[in-house]
Amino acid sequence: MNEVVVVGAGLAGLTAGYRLASAGVRVHVTEARPYVGGRTASWDERGMKVESGLHRYIGIYSALPRLMQDAGIDLSKALIWEDEVEIRVPDGPSALYGASPLRRPFRTIWNVAGPGKLCTPGERARLGAFFAAGLLHYAASGSTVLDRHTVRDFAKSKRVSDRTIERILVPLTEGLFFYPPERYSAYVLFALLAQGAKRALRSGVAAFSGGMTEVMADPIAERIRALGGTVETAAAATSLIVRGDRVVGITVRDREITAKEVVLATSLAPAQELVRKAFGIQSWNEGMLSLKTMPSATLQLELERPALPVDRGTFGPGTSLSAFTEQSRTTFTHVPGRLSIILSQAELRLLQRPEEILEEVCRDAPRLGFELKSIVRDYRVITLPHDFYSLTPGMEALRPPQETPIAGLTLAGDYTRQNYLTTMEGAVISGEHAAAVVTRRLNG
Ligand SMILES: Cc1cc2nc3c(=O)[nH]c(=O)nc-3n(C[C@H](O)[C@H](O)[C@H](O)COP(=O)(O)OP(=O)(O)OC[C@H]3O[C@@H](n4cnc5c(N)ncnc54)[C@H](O)[C@@H]3O)c2cc1C
Repeated sequence: MNEVVVVGAGLAGLTAGYRLASAGVRVHVTEARPYVGGRTASWDERGMKVESGLHRYIGIYSALPRLMQDAGIDLSKALIWEDEVEIRVPDGPSALYGASPLRRPFRTIWNVAGPGKLCTPGERARLGAFFAAGLLHYAASGSTVLDRHTVRDFAKSKRVSDRTIERILVPLTEGLFFYPPERYSAYVLFALLAQGAKRALRSGVAAFSGGMTEVMADPIAERIRALGGTVETAAAATSLIVRGDRVVGITVRDREITAKEVVLATSLAPAQELVRKAFGIQSWNEGMLSLKTMPSATLQLELERPALPVDRGTFGPGTSLSAFTEQSRTTFTHVPGRLSIILSQAELRLLQRPEEILEEVCRDAPRLGFELKSIVRDYRVITLPHDFYSLTPGMEALRPPQETPIAGLTLAGDYTRQNYLTTMEGAVISGEHAAAVVTRRLNG
């Protein structure tokens, strides 16, 4: 019998599996899709190499780089530091920001001390007061005050101008987590900024040097196998097996896989479905079952030539191109040009045909200073309808801890409670917490 079954091979499940296997525990990881990586996966979609969406590794992360290094991944080969982000105002100015005090000191200091192109000195002063107030609230009371407000409401209450909201806060919130400031809890923004402030000197932004399954998820899965564990793909868990008052395994198709402990490390919607089916609504799972989900939608294009002169994260506030990056010099070097776009209004994209989305993006691109239509070779729209927990106000208190009161059942995943929200770092931290809970339970 396996000691532990991990359901889901996204970063949270791979982390839990790897940490447990490293501690000598016999682990079986089961993944619904034919490949590992979850939202950090890359795969072949009808003849085109795609990923779940463009990802940026942030220098303030610590659990993710530790995991990658422990699993034998050479960070200097897996990551390419870009350390800059750009905001392009449609039909307006653009501004380049340094994102690393160590590798881009002048440009990074200039962000704060320079004249700034997108707002006036008065507007910048009010923006500074807004950031300071949010960070103070976060330090004083965590989510209590901030999670009652949207970013837009909180900014308005600090007299941030509409223009500053459109030019700075829209790119920030859409770039960080795909949603505009009126849909976005002020807690979410300041929780992440507070982590950044604590590690400001280490901040920086990097692209992956290949598809993320290839450079990150597969090597971690390989390490689990090398440590005696198994990682099975195309094997979706359809139910949790409950005997008496404990979870004793899972069903995969008609096969029962038993274990002393189960780590449920799927994204939110499948976790809700499995838990509801096994237990119905109980006081311990009420919050988790009422957490809402939100979708993401991306457009990925192969091009005759690069669309942009530099590979770096760029924001197009107020257009269909929320955040985008050229990738032909970093992540997808096998084609002459490669653009990955996180689309605004993800819910709408679920209803649109791919050719409609392409048309809208090609219409918006010239407003952001580049031409796309004549150089498109191939494209795919990738949508994830329910993978994220909603970042609207009021959700934080509903996020469950990794430890459940049910014997044999532990949760992992970015929606579970940790300070890095819905990021790769958050997923890894949740997997580490889950592994610690399981270790304690196995030993105790
Ligand atoms: C477009 C996009 C851009 C992003 N950009 C960034 C970024 O720049 N920086 C950053 O830090 N983070 C980013 N993220 C967020 C980051 O990818 C996620 O927070 C993180 O990968 C979540 O990991 P997870 O393991 O919690 O969940 P997931 O990766 O969703 O893993 C869950 C796994 O469970 C599997 N599963 C589901 N149901 C079952 C079942 N019944 N049986 C077995 N397996 C099942 C799924 O197939 C999946 O592999 C981005 C995400 C997306 C989609």
